[in-house]
Amino acid sequence: MVQDYLVDSFGRRISYLRISLTDRCNLRCCYCVPPGGFPLTCRTKILTYEEILRLAECFVDLGIDKIRLTGGEPLVRQNLPYLVKGISEFPEIKDLSLSTNGVFLAREAQALFQAGLKRINISLDTFDPAKFKWITGLDKHEAVLTGIEKAIRVGFRPIKINVVMMKGMNDDEIESFVAFAMERPVEIRFIELMPTRNCFDPGKRYFVSNDWVKGEVLRWTDLAPEPSRTGDVAEVYGLPNGIGRIAFISSISHSFCSECNRIRLRVDGTLKLCLHGEETFDLRTPLREGRSKAELTRLIREAVQLKPQGHRFTGSVADEAVVYMCQVGG
Ligand code: SAM
Repeated sequence: MVQDYLVDSFGRRISYLRISLTDRCNLRCCYCVPPGGFPLTCRTKILTYEEILRLAECFVDLGIDKIRLTGGEPLVRQNLPYLVKGISEFPEIKDLSLSTNGVFLAREAQALFQAGLKRINISLDTFDPAKFKWITGLDKHEAVLTGIEKAIRVGFRPIKINVVMMKGMNDDEIESFVAFAMERPVEIRFIELMPTRNCFDPGKRYFVSNDWVKGEVLRWTDLAPEPSRTGDVAEVYGLPNGIGRIAFISSISHSFCSECNRIRLRVDGTLKLCLHGEETFDLRTPLREGRSKAELTRLIREAVQLKPQGHRFTGSVADEAVVYMCQVGG
């Protein structure tokens, strides 16, 4: 039962937790994984599913009602349906979702759905297999498309397709993404490219603002605004002549820090208070010391007070405290 909601020092109610299950990934997306790789978290520091469930119980007690499982690539972790089932059994969780690159989705979709996962986000930046290989480093385009079709058949709703738009790379494919959403029950989410520590785009050569993307979308379809969903930072539109939706996530051009309701649990049990901020809090140590649920919830409450007022995307990307996106899960 919820004791007292989690509120940070700026009065924002925190209700959304993203849990990174692994920092390993079977793709090497140029904007996410640094070219030379990065030191992976050693196995002994990775939270077990039981540890994640124990922390999840504390977060739920503090009013967290939305959880996203992410990575790295969460589907490279064994026996994921076990964790999904455990989390979906908390009656307080209204919204459980998963972010995946879709490569293993065709194989896992049915078991995840049966375990209680009802909605899913899949990353797909292009319909061109050669560009897919350039962006992700691997030849897995077909596998992702098969994964998306399987997710539709299995019954996940909504299915959101994350598209990171890059100038000169996939900005000529907007019509194809609109057509994809016209014909399928999917929400295409155009995400602005964020600077990361490895900084794939130091000169902002590839950055495209969502204002431009929206203008291009409007060349191919009308957009019918949908009411904003609580805690969702996306601007969502229905398609008057299609079955899917189009959404825009404009973290760079339109900051939504004042409404931020999310915190992130990294694979090693570190709580990260802002995607692009240095504020973190170690929960693994007290968890493994066997601290009580009351103590853990008190520590989480204390940690949340460290959440900064706003992100530092516009600051120096050389900031050593900023980890790679694959380590935090986006
Ligand atoms: N492997 C999973 C996947 O591909 O969705 C989950 C992890 S991935 C880090 C989560 C999301 O972050 C993906 O949709 C990815 O496109 C997005 N992402 C990673 N780096 C990004 C960046 N620099 N700018 C914008 N989005 C980014």
